[in-house]
Amino acid sequence: MIENSANLAIINNNTFEATKAVNLHHYDISSALQTTLEFNELIAIFSNKIANMVPHSAYVYINTEFGLEIKSGVFTRHSCNYALKVEQQQLGELKLMRNHRFSDADLQLLEALLCCLIYPLKNATLFHQALKMAYTDPLTQTHNRTSFNDSIKREMSLANRTAKKLSLIFFDIDHFKAINDKYGHDCGDITLAFSAKKIKESLRDSDIVFRYGGEEFVILLSDTDANGAELLAERIRSSIQHHTIAYGMETIKVTASLGVSTLRDNDTTESFIQRADKAMYTAKNKGRNQVVFAK
Ligand code: GH3
Ligand code: MG
Ligand code: MG
Repeated sequence: MIENSANLAIINNNTFEATKAVNLHHYDISSALQTTLEFNELIAIFSNKIANMVPHSAYVYINTEFGLEIKSGVFTRHSCNYALKVEQQQLGELKLMRNHRFSDADLQLLEALLCCLIYPLKNATLFHQALKMAYTDPLTQTHNRTSFNDSIKREMSLANRTAKKLSLIFFDIDHFKAINDKYGHDCGDITLAFSAKKIKESLRDSDIVFRYGGEEFVILLSDTDANGAELLAERIRSSIQHHTIAYGMETIKVTASLGVSTLRDNDTTESFIQRADKAMYTAKNKGRNQVVFAK
């Protein structure tokens, strides 16, 4: 991706004074960049504010830590790339494009202007890292219950507004207590992480998996009808059944029971969740290791 990685904007303590001076010089840019902690807005503001000084036809900003690829404008022949860093913190890569080449003087000016962007980007990174931590279950790296409470409301109102289907899968590991009792809590934790991994591997990017409680996960499937959700639940069930966990000299087989519900017109969050939960209990009662769709 980086065609000209020699152009690194690495700001360290030695250049901090220079940064402050540049910021005073470009006070307008710095103050505009203080108005947001969203990456897409920061890059758009920066591009807009420097347009007269360093004309460009397009920009691309890539931040792998947060899975971002932000693009805008008309892609043209010449480009310059910067891997942005501050104090060992990676802040993503910024590429500018235009029809004629960037001169050394252009690059020098751009590098001075980039100093205004570095600290707002660092603040955005810290903010989004904290947000991610607050919404993530550390053991399974899935979203946590707090995140679920927010997401289900958002997804339900989106589904109602756009008349798209929304489905939900309740997933519960079978006889999980027996795994803890026989092999210990550590092995139980490994089983939880394994199950989360298998669920994630079966999903599309737009599906979200949450750790709902101890050994229970919930999967929210946007734009997915009953058929699609049932197929996906079956794929997850089968994937769990057909993999084995290696724990020391032991090999452990795990199964899970899954309940599926699809959003109805008169549903509340509670009724939508309860239907899937009840279906999951029906799967348990029918002998476990199966999928039941809520009628
Ligand atoms: P069923 O097939 O009916 O679902 O039986 P089960 O044993 O899976 O269900 P039960 O609700 O009886 O037991 C769940 C167990 O999960 C009890 C609890 O100690 C354990 N547990 C909850 N959270 C964690 C965790 O974070 N790590 C580990 N290792 N165990 C946990
Ligand atoms: Mg349970
Ligand atoms: Mg269980």
